Amino acid sequence: MTGCEGARRILLVCATSALACASLPMDLRHPTVAPRERPLVAGRYTDYRGAIHVHSHFSHDSEGRIEDIVAAANATGLDFVIMTDHITRDSVANGPAGVHGDTLFIPGGEMHRGGGSILGIGMTRYVERKRRQPQQIIDDVVDQGALALIGYPEGFHEWQVTGYVGIEIYNLKSDVLDEWKLPGVLSFLLLPPRQAFGRIVDRPAEPLARWDRMLRERPLVGVVGSDAHANIRILGRTFGSYHQVFQLFTNHLLARSRSQEDLLEALASGRAYSSFDVFGYVSHFAFTARDGERVALMGESIALGPELRGEVRIPERAEVHLLRDGELEWVREGEVLRFPIARPGVHRVEVYKRGRLWILSNPIYVSAVAADASSGAREPGRIGPRDAGLDGSEGR
Ligand SMILES: [Zn+2]
Repeated sequence: MTGCEGARRILLVCATSALACASLPMDLRHPTVAPRERPLVAGRYTDYRGAIHVHSHFSHDSEGRIEDIVAAANATGLDFVIMTDHITRDSVANGPAGVHGDTLFIPGGEMHRGGGSILGIGMTRYVERKRRQPQQIIDDVVDQGALALIGYPEGFHEWQVTGYVGIEIYNLKSDVLDEWKLPGVLSFLLLPPRQAFGRIVDRPAEPLARWDRMLRERPLVGVVGSDAHANIRILGRTFGSYHQVFQLFTNHLLARSRSQEDLLEALASGRAYSSFDVFGYVSHFAFTARDGERVALMGESIALGPELRGEVRIPERAEVHLLRDGELEWVREGEVLRFPIARPGVHRVEVYKRGRLWILSNPIYVSAVAADASSGAREPGRIGPRDAGLDGSEGR
């Protein structure tokens, strides 16, 4: 731990002590109970919500009990939880997996290397971390059929590595440590927990800027990481309990079923978005690009054409920002927005509710028109890496 981190930790503990003494209720008391019926997307995918990057007592820095994680995930309506304990042989062999109550647990591990971490998702075998390069660790993860994500991208410095499918564009622990200054402490003392957490959760500007730069080179899924440890306990109270953290934000995967295989396929494909439910429960969200019969969902590609139009659907009227290659194209308000897409590039959406980042899409990749487009012909729609044809006529 660096001196700076130590000071932050002390601040955090002081604040948590004050919080415990103030005897504030720690339940976020989210007003909306998560519905069990999930919306169907494009007639074939279901919108499954869950938490990515969760630690338990299998990690050296957490005492989190599996039964508490299961209870919290069930109570907050999570369809899946992706575990990422600091990997040990014990965590791989005995960590939670399979369906517990209403929630599917997907085993994984976190391996700190290169100034950040490698999150292995769907792991079945132990991976040695010590004295090994990040690339070797990623290769070991991928070789066992699991997915690799880069955690803590703001600190990671080994970007020459390959084989990972995405990055963590938001990490709660990073955000809390970043924000844990006097105003943050005071907000926890003076405000109900939901508002206090709401003040902490910020748009992750630096990771988003990095993601935008990387997206110009290759498709890359972005996820939000809970980094839930439930490991700070003062006077019998826990700061950042699983129950609280699971209500702050969620990852949504558009998958054919809730099987581990289908969820990982959706994640690798980038058919995903993130919702910061602390600002309002997000029951559904859609971002699509359509040209006649061809439709691309998030994570998919589509060729530019004169009829190409985008569509954004959100649960209620809010401020929608369209970004292309990391640059803001426009800002509009609405609940259902339809708009022409006139230029190629990586298109993604940020939705703001009362000025706070509420929903974060994954991108749709719009490729340039074929050279003979002016004559009316155009490059066949590369609806990929996986197809998005609503009628099932394309690809796969
Ligand atoms: Zn972690």
